Formats: sequence, structure tokens, C-alpha cells
Amino acid sequence: MDLADLYRDVIVDHNKRPRNFGRLEHPNRTAEGHNPLCGDKLHIFLDVEGDLIRDIRFEGRGCAISTASASLMSEAVKGRRVADVQHLFASVHDMLTRHDAPVPAELGKLAALSGVREYPARVKCASLCWHTLNAALADEAAPVTTE
Ligand code: ZN
Repeated sequence: MDLADLYRDVIVDHNKRPRNFGRLEHPNRTAEGHNPLCGDKLHIFLDVEGDLIRDIRFEGRGCAISTASASLMSEAVKGRRVADVQHLFASVHDMLTRHDAPVPAELGKLAALSGVREYPARVKCASLCWHTLNAALADEAAPVTTE
């Protein structure tokens, strides 16, 4: 099995069985995101204490890439410090937008999304959850749109 097959399997798996899918009973930060280009919609719920993301859930409807990306992101940021998550977001953004950039090892399973950079229209599908997470952390009331 080559790397492209492995990455495809990770995306298929996270789309079929998204992790941390649903709502938190008592979230203290939430944000909604929308990618009109594809029709992806996302609602993120966070339990943040100080600079720690204690818990995260998400709901939404979207394409396989947007759902898998949100699922992978939720696993990657749960239990992490906000500063680490912002650093991770910068690495993910580089991975999705810079064709020649090597994928840093710290991205772990998130590397499965690296193939998306060959398809510019899908980059917004993969990055929607990260922009929405950022808005939730910043406590912004207005919904996020990738347009
Ligand atoms: Zn999409």
C-alpha cells in the first residue's frame, strides 16, 4: 500500500465514522462556518478552560473532505493548549497551500489531507474547520465564511 492509498483510507474512515461528532452539553465557545463554494456547513462546540481545549465536538453537513478534516482536527486539538493549536493551524495551512512544502512530522494523521493541495477548490473544504475553530477560540459572534 502506498502513501496515497493510506491517506485515502484515513479520509474515508474519518468521513464514515467522524470522531467527536455531536454537541457538547455545556460549551463555553461555539462558532459556525460555511463554505459556499462546496456547501459545507459546520458548527463547532468547545469547552475551554484558561488556555486548554478540554473538549470539542462538531456537527455539520459537508463533503467527505470537510467532514474528515473536522474529525481529524478534533482529535488533534482535544486536550491541547491554544498556543499549540494555533501553531498547528499554521502548519496545516502551509501543508494545504504550499505545493513544495514538506509535511512536518508533528502533523501526524493530519498529513492525510496533504493531497488536497493538488485540488485548489478543495482547500477550503479542508480548512473550513480550522477557520471555524479559530473563530470559536476568538469568541467571534459572526459566522465564518470561506468566501
Ligand atoms: Zn467541501
